[in-house]
Amino acid sequence: MTRALTADQLLFATHNAGKLEEMRELLAPRGVTVVSAKDHNLPEPVETEDTFVGNARIKAHAAASATGLVALADDSGLCIEALGGAPGVYTADWAETPEGRDFDLAMGRAHKALIDAAAPQPWRATFVSVLVLAWPDGHDEVFEGRIDGELVWPTRGAHGHGYDPMFIPEGHTLTFAEMSHQAKNAVSHRGRALQKLLAECFT
Ligand code: IMP
Repeated sequence: MTRALTADQLLFATHNAGKLEEMRELLAPRGVTVVSAKDHNLPEPVETEDTFVGNARIKAHAAASATGLVALADDSGLCIEALGGAPGVYTADWAETPEGRDFDLAMGRAHKALIDAAAPQPWRATFVSVLVLAWPDGHDEVFEGRIDGELVWPTRGAHGHGYDPMFIPEGHTLTFAEMSHQAKNAVSHRGRALQKLLAECFT
């Protein structure tokens, strides 16, 4: 049976400012305040697994056992059909530079990989988010959300984070970075995973 959560505050095990802002906006209507791993000075655990669920579990359990609080973690990424699902769990890694993460560079890499592969358009892709809610006693609950769409080049829009300027969700004409936060959250992988979590765990 799914374990219920009756809290008005949730620890979100992330150092990613874009994810944090989205989770705050998604949970505000439920009266839930979100505090981050950064607020608790938690280190970023190394993501050693090769699945979204494996890495989300690492982050959620590390935060729950370090703080004694129920912790939520998101592991997410962009899976590009013509690239066999890459970058997938390595989506953040494609942005790594010695000076920090650069998502213009990451989107350029994705575009170059599509051109090099002579992939015909539309360039279909799926954003995936796995949310893990972990309790300090080791129990967890797992929820997955997905949104299919296509990639565009050149990139468009200034909102959002990560690969948002490159991704148009199915049924829409704007990229995630051109949509309002509210419109993105209503259809996004993270928004969908969170709706499942709220339905199951929040009473
Ligand atoms: P991780 O979950 O920390 O491994 O990082 C996932 C990476 O996927 C992020 O750094 C972003 O680059 C990308 N990503 C995940 N969700 C989104 C989104 O909603 N928009 C754009 N990029 C995203």
